[in-house]
Amino acid sequence: MTGLADLGAAELADLLASGQVSSVEAVQACLDRIEAADAAVGAFLHVDADRALAAARAVDARRAAGADLPPLAGVPVAVKDAFAMTGAPTTCGSRLLEHWRPPYDSSVVRRLQEAGLVIVGKTNMDEFAMGSSTENSAFGPTRNPWDLGRIPGGSGGGSAAALAAYEAPLAIGSDTGGSIRQPAAVTGTVGVKPTYGGVSRYGLVAMASSLDQPGPCARSVLDAALLHAVIGGYDPKDSTSIDAPVPDVVAAARSGDVAGLRIGVVAELGGEGYAPGVEQRFHEAVALLEAAGAKVSEVSCPHFDLALAAYYLIMPSEASSNLARFDAMRYGLRVGDDGSRSAEQVMRLSRARGFGDEVKRRVILGTYALSSGYFDAYYGSAQKVRTLIGQDFTAAFERVDVLVSPTCPTTAWPFGERLADPLSMYKADLCTIPSNLAGGPAASFPAGLAPEDGLPVGFHVMAPPLAEDRLYLVGTALERALEPSGAPLAARLVGKELTL
Ligand code: GLN
Repeated sequence: MTGLADLGAAELADLLASGQVSSVEAVQACLDRIEAADAAVGAFLHVDADRALAAARAVDARRAAGADLPPLAGVPVAVKDAFAMTGAPTTCGSRLLEHWRPPYDSSVVRRLQEAGLVIVGKTNMDEFAMGSSTENSAFGPTRNPWDLGRIPGGSGGGSAAALAAYEAPLAIGSDTGGSIRQPAAVTGTVGVKPTYGGVSRYGLVAMASSLDQPGPCARSVLDAALLHAVIGGYDPKDSTSIDAPVPDVVAAARSGDVAGLRIGVVAELGGEGYAPGVEQRFHEAVALLEAAGAKVSEVSCPHFDLALAAYYLIMPSEASSNLARFDAMRYGLRVGDDGSRSAEQVMRLSRARGFGDEVKRRVILGTYALSSGYFDAYYGSAQKVRTLIGQDFTAAFERVDVLVSPTCPTTAWPFGERLADPLSMYKADLCTIPSNLAGGPAASFPAGLAPEDGLPVGFHVMAPPLAEDRLYLVGTALERALEPSGAPLAARLVGKELTL
C-alpha cells in the first residue's frame, strides 16, 4: 500500500477535504520520511516537527469546525532557505547568516501560511543561490535521490531532492538563472519560473534583483499549478510586482490541450555539448507534443549564444551590490569585534570568514565589472545584449506560442566533477538564462530518463510574459503522453531505500 508521503498535493488535498485523512497524518508521514531518508539525501537544513504538527493541528481544527478552507490547506510544503521566515533560521546556505533569525516573514511564506499549507522545513541551497550543484552550500551538499553520488542541481537542489525523495509533495524555489528549473530537470521533477514580478520577492534574500523570481516546485504539473496559484499575484511590498491577474494556471494544467499550439524549437539550444540521451529525449518529447496536435517549427534566437556571458556580468554586478549589506553590523556573523579593531577591519574579517569561494569570486567579478573604468565595456555591453535577447524573444513569439529546448545540456553529474572549473558549472544554465534576462516565464518538465545513464532529462518551455498558462498546457500534455497512468516520473523512486 502507498503511504501518505507518496501522494501528490492534489490527491492529498482531496483526501483532506473529504476528511479521509488529517493534516496531522499527512505532515507526520512527511516527517517520518524525512527522518528515514534525509540523513542520506540532505535536502533539509532545518526541520521543525513540533511547529509543523501544531500548524497541521490548527488546520484540522478549522476543518472540523466547518471552515471553508483554501484548496491546499493542510498539505505539507518545503521552502528554500532563501526565504525569510520568523521563528526559524534563514541561512541562504551561508555561514554568514548561520544564526540569523528574520524578524519578518517573506510574502511567499505568508501566502503559504494564509492558504493553510504546512511548512515542514527549510531546504538546502548553494550559498546565496550561487551554483548549479548545491556543492556551494556552507552546510554540505544535497544528494540526488536518483543516484546519491551525484548532484541534485542548484542552487535549489534541496527543494528538488526533497520532492524526488518523497519528503514533501510541494516545494518553493527561486530562480535567477535556472535555480528552479535545472534542479527540476536533473531530479525528474517539475519546476516553474514565473514571469518576473509574478511572485513577490519581498523577503527573498536578494541575489540579482532584476533576475530573481520565486516559483513552485512539485512532482506533477497540476501540483505545481496549484502551488503557483497560491503564491502568485500582486504584492504592494515588492516594487517590481506586476499588478495584473495571474493566468489560470490550474485550468491549463487540468486541460493539457495543445491542439494548434505553435511550438518553436530553439535552433541555438542543442547540438555540440549536449548529451546524446538529453537530445534524444528532448526530440521524442517534441514528437509527442506534435502527435498531440501542436504545430512544431524551428526558430532561431541568434543572441541566445551570448546569454551566458551577459548573465555572468549582470548577475555578479547586482549580487556584489546586494551582498554589501552583509557587513557584520546589521546581520549575521561578526568576527574579531574585540574592541581592538575598526569597523572596517571587522567587516573585512567577517566577510572573509562568512563567504565561501564562489560568493567571493562573484563579488570580485561584479565589483570589477561595475568599476568606473570598466563599466561601459562590461556591464554596459551586457545590458545591451540583454536587450537583444529580449528582442529575440519578441520576434520569436510573433511566430510561435512557446519556445522549447532541453533544460540542461547534461544529466546530473558526479560530485566534484565541475567544482574546480567554474565555467563548466556555469554551462549548466545555458538554456535557462535567456528567460531570466528577458523576464518571461519558463518551466522544466520531466522528459524521461537518458538511455546512457538512466538519469532524468528535463524539457524546457519558455513563454511570453504573463502567459504561464501555456507552460502548464505543454507540461500536462507531455506528462500524459509519457505516462498515461498519470504517475510522475519520480514515482519510480517510491520504495527506494535512501541510505548511504
Ligand atoms: N546556477 C546559476 C548561478 O549559479 C543560477 C542561480 C540561480 O538561479 N539562483 O548563478
